[in-house]
Amino acid sequence: MSNRIVGLVPTMGALHEGHLSLIRRAQQNCSCVVASIFVNPKQFGPAEDFAKYPRSVEADIEKLEAAGVDCAFIPEAAEMYPADFSTYVNVEGLSDRLEGRSRPNHFRGVTTVVMKLLQIAQPQFAYFGRKDAQQAQIIFRMVADLNLDAEIVVCPILREPDGLAMSSRNAYLGAVERKAATSLHRALQAAQHELESGVRDAAQLQSAMRGVLHGQPEARVDYAEIVDSRDFQPVALVNRTAYALLAVKIGATRLLDNMRIEFVRTDGGENAAVEAASNRLRVEL
Ligand code: AMP
Repeated sequence: MSNRIVGLVPTMGALHEGHLSLIRRAQQNCSCVVASIFVNPKQFGPAEDFAKYPRSVEADIEKLEAAGVDCAFIPEAAEMYPADFSTYVNVEGLSDRLEGRSRPNHFRGVTTVVMKLLQIAQPQFAYFGRKDAQQAQIIFRMVADLNLDAEIVVCPILREPDGLAMSSRNAYLGAVERKAATSLHRALQAAQHELESGVRDAAQLQSAMRGVLHGQPEARVDYAEIVDSRDFQPVALVNRTAYALLAVKIGATRLLDNMRIEFVRTDGGENAAVEAASNRLRVEL
């Protein structure tokens, strides 16, 4: 079947609606959707949760079947990384900031496994969640830098009804922590509110987010940053597309969330001043 369009959705399993939304998106563009499930040991630090990461392969396969996935790729670690494995892909710079600073070698593990999955599945499209915005940007960079053929598609964040971003790690949260975990979404909403009332100063947006998080006894902020959407460097002023990024520990569970802040041109006017004035901010939670 030479004219089929293959879409790849890489996951670590413990599938939830967020994962399934990537699959549904892939099905819109592709005639063959491959979902991978692989808890990649190379992207976990020695003190991290690799051993206890939730694994539910049987239930995951049922979900993939029900979703109409064409192929599930569920390799063993020894198949992906034989004893003599020695080649790594690393995106410099971008991989060292934010998540990379808190989790050394994490992104090197991610880019290495994604490179392998792209080589194995040979997809025309590969789908990633904006939930892991820095990861998506790093993969985008890798694909561009290494002239890979796959097009990277970044999909919206799926949330629980109370705003908590869906994540396999939410299963770690006890009842009190689960409630406290909504503080990430509330912190982003606080920044959204500031933006919508005209605030562009990143420090002010950050303190709005921290204000909410510091009011939550179970929450410990790792970072709460406003960064440029391409290089993920901090910005002082939000005057171009940016992300508000959060990494917060709720008890022992480290959670991520983010909000995309985009400037949309609302008219195609020839007058530059008019155009600049009518640039509208759009916030995507
Ligand atoms: P994971 O299994 O956590 O490695 O995630 C696999 C893919 O699903 C990644 O591209 C994630 O960004 C994406 N993903 C995880 N959670 C969500 C969510 N709540 N909404 C959308 N995509 C998500």
